[in-house]
Amino acid sequence: MNKEYNDEYEKVCYLCKRSESKAGKMMMMPGNICVCSDCMQKTFDTVSNTDFSKLNMGDFPGINVFTQMFADTSKQEEQKLKKEAAVTIEKGEESKEEKEEKDKKQNGNGMNGFPNIGFLNLADFPGIPGRQKVKRRPKGEKTEPLIDINKIPAPHKIKEKLDEYVIGQEQAKKTISVAVYNHYKRIARQSQMEDIEIEKSNMLMIGPTGCGKTYLVKTLAKLLDVPLAIADATSLTEAGYIGDDIESVVSKLLAAADNDVDRAEIGIIFIDEIDKLARKRNTTTRDINGEAVQQGLLKVLEGSEVEVPVGANSKNAMVPLTTINTKNILFICGGAFPELDEVIKRRLNTESSIGFKADLKDKYDNQDVLSKVAVEDIRNFGMIPEFIGRLPIIFTLQELTRDMMVQVLKEPKNAILKQYQKLLELDEVKLEFDEGAMEAVAEKALEKKTGARALRAVLEEYMLDIMYEIPKDDNIGKVTITRDYIEKKGGPVIELRG
Ligand code: ADP
Repeated sequence: MNKEYNDEYEKVCYLCKRSESKAGKMMMMPGNICVCSDCMQKTFDTVSNTDFSKLNMGDFPGINVFTQMFADTSKQEEQKLKKEAAVTIEKGEESKEEKEEKDKKQNGNGMNGFPNIGFLNLADFPGIPGRQKVKRRPKGEKTEPLIDINKIPAPHKIKEKLDEYVIGQEQAKKTISVAVYNHYKRIARQSQMEDIEIEKSNMLMIGPTGCGKTYLVKTLAKLLDVPLAIADATSLTEAGYIGDDIESVVSKLLAAADNDVDRAEIGIIFIDEIDKLARKRNTTTRDINGEAVQQGLLKVLEGSEVEVPVGANSKNAMVPLTTINTKNILFICGGAFPELDEVIKRRLNTESSIGFKADLKDKYDNQDVLSKVAVEDIRNFGMIPEFIGRLPIIFTLQELTRDMMVQVLKEPKNAILKQYQKLLELDEVKLEFDEGAMEAVAEKALEKKTGARALRAVLEEYMLDIMYEIPKDDNIGKVTITRDYIEKKGGPVIELRG
């Protein structure tokens, strides 16, 4: 472990799990294990207060055998050493190497006078690596603020950056840009806002699978340079049950922040598939588990102190713990909320069938009703009101159309087509897709109903042969993929060099 790492990270007491800033100076033990002075003192006190003479060794079966064995070995060892010493005296001056070798033997495994007995090196055990340390931030000393108000890009700048990666979803990108901007402004200006408590901008993102929810959050975290943890709501369980509890998600965030508590406290946690926690509708039995997890999330969403394991994802006696305040962590929940449109339509239809809003019943059938979502729809879907209350910003993403899929293929900064082109460019071959081919790929991907996620799978199927055959022939200079090739009616157009 290098020195820099040691300096940047705070030591954590191996026994009481408190960090150096709380427990004071640590004593280093072999194997990078630290113990605070309190625990060290307690150990000494215990040892010095124990009257070993009163211990009846006979009460410990095995000990007598052990001491006997120990005595035997030391006797044998002593005799051997004496013999060796006599030989050396006969030989005269002993060489330096011989002396070192003998010293080593006399000291056994590093312990004076106890041959065959060595300390267990706890660092040899897996699970106690150096990463179980939290990052140190010196108290009192002026450090650079983690969030500088002048460095947070304005919402339109955030959206511009998102545009480079995420296709369509204009409303979602706009909403998330403003919300994130306000969130970090709130953190940066915390000290000046004592009179008005600005509410946390936790978000709920609704959109079908593969429309870019996770991708949007990932891109956002990357361009804001904040740590991000992604969790799946279906794997979350109530505290005490087997599975991940919410603390393990916060612990993931800490790991993403390189064990820097301060950085983790301004990170983003994305909880996907949140709709799976909804109470089952149309049944009389209630899904207690989902609701209980929603309940369990309430406190963390709002802001509370969570004790999390450092460098591991479960609490046990071997891992140090640290406290993380979730007050400034931005929570974004996402889900597909299948059939939510039906719930919305039902509400809109009942609204319009009474009073002056009376309208045609099937008016909403061909519209994007999802964007008309209201809090009560999500409640009717099965989320508990307290939970929705803690996600004040709700927005929707649309299902990708064929044209959007084509854009996803070619436009983003790291578009899949660009990746293939780059790969073939290394073989000095130019790869092109004509419009028809891209549309055909998009159509095939749409059939799979998993959104843009299917694009790569579909493309991979067709590109396999190309990537296999092209490097065989050095004369090939350009390959054009056509609709016919995708529809298996013909081959790609190949142009030779020169
Ligand atoms: P989900 O909405 O289910 O979370 P993801 O965000 O994981 O879907 O999308 C899967 C993949 O599809 C992403 O990694 C990304 O490459 C691509 N993708 C999805 N939507 C878009 C989009 N709007 N713009 C660009 N790429 C997208």
